[in-house]
Amino acid sequence: ENAKLRVICGPMFSGKTTKLINIIHTYAAQDRRIQVFKPQLDHRYATKEIVSHDNKSIAAIGITNAEELYAFADKTDVFAIDEAQFFGDEIVNVCQSLTRKNKIVIISGLDFDFKARPFGSMPALLSLADEIIKLNAVCNFCAGHASFSHRTTTEVETLVLGEKDKYVPLCRSCYLEVLKA
Ligand code: ADP
Ligand code: MG
Repeated sequence: ENAKLRVICGPMFSGKTTKLINIIHTYAAQDRRIQVFKPQLDHRYATKEIVSHDNKSIAAIGITNAEELYAFADKTDVFAIDEAQFFGDEIVNVCQSLTRKNKIVIISGLDFDFKARPFGSMPALLSLADEIIKLNAVCNFCAGHASFSHRTTTEVETLVLGEKDKYVPLCRSCYLEVLKA
């Protein structure tokens, strides 16, 4: 089976990168030619790999513009992409064009920004997907199903790189409580 757009979404710490790595292993077992990518702006970890919060990692290529993916089309069957929310709008057309070239595209990203707004190109990717894998984290307050990445600092820009020092996953009720406080 070829030509497929699979999208993984959820808040921070929901297991998106872990799921992406597991799916990559599945395709590797099928002898497909896989290449893993991430946006180069994400410098939180080594630039040459994607790393999950429970420290699983896999080699990746850092790119600054999604159109760089086309150069890999001849030697790649499966495009695995992490941190999709950090790419510009071009990621949508690139993913769709790759599926038209009979590629499998599996792409993972935050569906909500820190203000619980749809994040960047994720809404468009989700509406074009063949398959959506929506994950939850454990709510930091009540241990329920967290959908949101709440920022605990006072920074106001949408793109602020951080980990547990800056973000906590919250369920909808706890997120609404925080807004009232
Ligand atoms: P994501 O890419 O969505 O940020 P990762 O796959 O990198 O997620 O990390 C998932 C891991 O994060 C979990 O397996 C768990 O070990 C860890 N983790 C830390 N805090 C939480 C939390 N509040 N809820 C769920 N997992 C958490
Ligand atoms: Mg991740």
